[in-house]
Amino acid sequence: MHSLSSTERRHNLTNLTGERYDVLVIGGGVTGAGVALDAAARGYRVALVEKIDFASGTSSKSTKLVHGGIRYLPNFDFALVHEALVERGILLQNAPFLVSPLGFVLPIYEGDRHPVGMPFTTPKGIGLGLLLDIGLWMYDALAGRRNIRLHRHLRRKGVLKLAPTLVPEGLKDGYMYYDGQTNDVRLTVALIRTAAQFGATITNYTEVTSFISEHGRVTGVNVHDRLGDQQLTVHARHIVNATGIFAEEVEELTGTEPLVRIEPSKGVHLVLSREDLKLGDAAIVLPETEDKRILFIVPWESRAIFGTTDTGTGDLDHPTASKEDVAYLLKYLNRYLTVKLTEENIISTYTGYRPLVSPRRPGRATAKVSRTHAVLQSPSGLVTIVGGKLTTYRRMAQDTVDVLNRRDGSPVVHPTQSLPLQGSAGWPFVQRELEKKGSALGLSHQTIAHLGKSYGAESLAILDLISGDPSLAQLLIDDLPYIRAEVVYATCYEMAVTPYDVLARRTSITLEDRQRGLGVVDEVAALMAKELQWTPEQQKSLVDAFCRAMDRQIAAEKIEV
Ligand SMILES: Cc1cc2nc3c(=O)[nH]c(=O)nc-3n(C[C@H](O)[C@H](O)[C@H](O)COP(=O)(O)OP(=O)(O)OC[C@H]3O[C@@H](n4cnc5c(N)ncnc54)[C@H](O)[C@@H]3O)c2cc1C
Repeated sequence: MHSLSSTERRHNLTNLTGERYDVLVIGGGVTGAGVALDAAARGYRVALVEKIDFASGTSSKSTKLVHGGIRYLPNFDFALVHEALVERGILLQNAPFLVSPLGFVLPIYEGDRHPVGMPFTTPKGIGLGLLLDIGLWMYDALAGRRNIRLHRHLRRKGVLKLAPTLVPEGLKDGYMYYDGQTNDVRLTVALIRTAAQFGATITNYTEVTSFISEHGRVTGVNVHDRLGDQQLTVHARHIVNATGIFAEEVEELTGTEPLVRIEPSKGVHLVLSREDLKLGDAAIVLPETEDKRILFIVPWESRAIFGTTDTGTGDLDHPTASKEDVAYLLKYLNRYLTVKLTEENIISTYTGYRPLVSPRRPGRATAKVSRTHAVLQSPSGLVTIVGGKLTTYRRMAQDTVDVLNRRDGSPVVHPTQSLPLQGSAGWPFVQRELEKKGSALGLSHQTIAHLGKSYGAESLAILDLISGDPSLAQLLIDDLPYIRAEVVYATCYEMAVTPYDVLARRTSITLEDRQRGLGVVDEVAALMAKELQWTPEQQKSLVDAFCRAMDRQIAAEKIEV
């Protein structure tokens, strides 16, 4: 098994300077990780550098749905929906432990005018139910043979059985349709590790600060290692900019005018207790909002995710929910649910920016531009991949590496269409072994299920750590399934180098824990310190940095009462 330890990180930093790569990927979100894997699987010598941590940008802030996007149907974006539905099917096949089917209850109320964010309506809303049914038939049809399950009509009683806290007054009937759910960060980490298995050289905390050019073409980058505070130079034949909302900023570093304009749009989620919402196994689509948005309540482990907003831009490095965002979301929850929720019910919030793209100079983009995403080739030779969504990362990566194949005049092949991600090989068989061995080691049913969903077949490596040190089987937080062994695993195998990496990105403790990890950060840091030989001062300063970041976030979202 390939380990991405901190020793490996140091080794990779040395390699970065010494080698000349075929492809250098800038950005370790889901898109960059996907490009690194696709290129490495096609035989390229690949490096990837990420400025903070893997998935620290938008790729840890999504609604965690692997979906076609029913809200695109009323806009007649059929190609976009079809592409995402095909990718949904491929992901279910290539990462079966990470992606699971999820039912969505779509209630219909008297007086609905713009359900699922429909931009148009019918006179007095007559026939909207039928339109929704037609739309859902199309959704099923666009998924083709990869469809999860056909949607079905629900009577009023059926809707309330599946979503008992929906306000019954005015409820007419509804539909149940199916999409997929994943863990966005774990998906990104699985991609990073699979790319490393294919030989990619990968480092986090390495920021591209400038480009090196020869005869007007980019041939390398200068990188700042933020942990070691040193500068490195990396050379590559092709350089791919996969930096999401930072793509324009990074393109500007080449000294040429960027081809795209990024218009980030903020999305906020609330994390709530499933018990407070009496949420079963199905997600709920809230019928409509005044600003024609679609809001989802999604079961997420022991919690529920609710979102999202769609407001303007702000500090891209520190996306934060404002009290207005929180108030907006609570308003709609309380409008459609019989339970009354206040700020006190919120376990945590998380916020990200959508990488929405508009052309800067129409017609100047030389590469393929699609509605979902764009692969752009700048005159400097930099290839920028922008737009898209979590669900379509593989297709975005494939389209990007196709451009590189064509530049090289090499045959275009698509290996990632049926390439299992790390943790997927032998999964159903390993699942049984995990249950047997996990119970023998004293792990609860919840922890075993959680390990399976997060690490797949890799869970066995976590069990091995526990066999060596039974104290690692202990829970980190009483009401959550995370165990101490995951901290050691993240440090030794997943390049976690700060407590923040473990609490927010290798696990989702900052989202699920009522104390947002503040109660457990000392224990996590102590476990990491042992593996990484931190001095007491280093350990303290990393704990302090985590506490400051959390305190800042909590303060920003407080509603004044
Ligand atoms: C609120 C919200 C909800 C969403 N929900 C869904 C959903 O349910 N399903 C779905 O399919 N999609 C969803 N999306 C979209 C999806 O999350 C994004 O499309 C996707 O995560 C973007 O990934 P990315 O890798 O392109 O960008 P990012 O994840 O932002 O990655 C870019 C990376 O580049 C790094 N970087 C930047 N500058 C540099 C530099 N100079 N040097 C090195 N590295 C650098 C950053 O640190 C960052 O990690 C949602 C988006 C939002 C905002």
